[in-house]
Amino acid sequence: MKAIIWGSCGSLPAPSTSASIRQKVRDAIWAAREHQFENLAAVDAYLETLPHCARGTYKANTSCVQIKANTDEYIFCDAGTGLRDFALSLGKDSAPATYHIFISHLHWDHIQGFPFFTPAYQAGNRIIFHGFHKETERALRAQMEAPCFPVPFEAMQAEIEFDIQENGASFQVGDIQISTIKQQHPGDSWGYCFEENGKRIIYSSDSEHGPEARKEGYHFVDFFQNADVLIFDGQYTFEEATNEKRYWGHSDHMTAVELSARAKVRQLIVFHHEPAYTDTEIEEIHKDALSYSEEYNQRLSNNTNNTTYPQRIELAFDGLEIEA
Ligand SMILES: [Zn+2]
Ligand SMILES: [Zn+2]
Repeated sequence: MKAIIWGSCGSLPAPSTSASIRQKVRDAIWAAREHQFENLAAVDAYLETLPHCARGTYKANTSCVQIKANTDEYIFCDAGTGLRDFALSLGKDSAPATYHIFISHLHWDHIQGFPFFTPAYQAGNRIIFHGFHKETERALRAQMEAPCFPVPFEAMQAEIEFDIQENGASFQVGDIQISTIKQQHPGDSWGYCFEENGKRIIYSSDSEHGPEARKEGYHFVDFFQNADVLIFDGQYTFEEATNEKRYWGHSDHMTAVELSARAKVRQLIVFHHEPAYTDTEIEEIHKDALSYSEEYNQRLSNNTNNTTYPQRIELAFDGLEIEA
């Protein structure tokens, strides 16, 4: 099982500007001024040595993560603008298929890709929205109403179903078991844990963890326990999350590290980036979290063997694939 990130930016799409791309190109050319390149493969090898912020970006599309498992049916978490890039990757004339979309909540950045999801316009496809918000169908229809969008929801030819459950429910797709957790976020949100053949991938975006998260027995530590991959809302710095942005419904890189270490998560993927930060700023916050992870593990590890958790911490970016 693996997760594919199609959209990782928080709140709204925040693609690179011409000015920021020019600066990256300028810096990369300058950094390479002493190198001789025999061919393009050598250029590619050199690019691999640069930090991601120098050759790519963390921010483009809004939340959309594909869970690739041992089934012909497609599984997604959220329908942000990343869903459109997935649809483009299918090409024309894709075979009829079933798409499951697990919705964390209905804020616009998590549903705004759906009007551009071409499989929804093709008869023969089946799309099932799973989630907990009673207003799910109404919100998806409303964002396509005039004067906001030119094509009405009714123009979609696929069979579209809504599987809306009560809090505490779990789901199943083929052999994949999906457990859920209610999260603290304005209007509520839900996290999803996908389990197949003993591997677990958890999608937990738009979720705030206040001071109660530091107490013994915090229920998210149980939910995250031994996850192979945890995709976690790290929009803010710890200072922001605990001060001026408290109750805004998001978490931070330090809390991501602490909860993952306590839950012995193997791979932590920090997700839902703050659109106001530059790629360089996001990497700076990440570096602080990496050193905090070492310090925090030493504090925790009086008790256990010397294994450090999480074993890998990475920033999500569109196109990143993570094997469970
Ligand atoms: Zn969001
Ligand atoms: Zn939200």
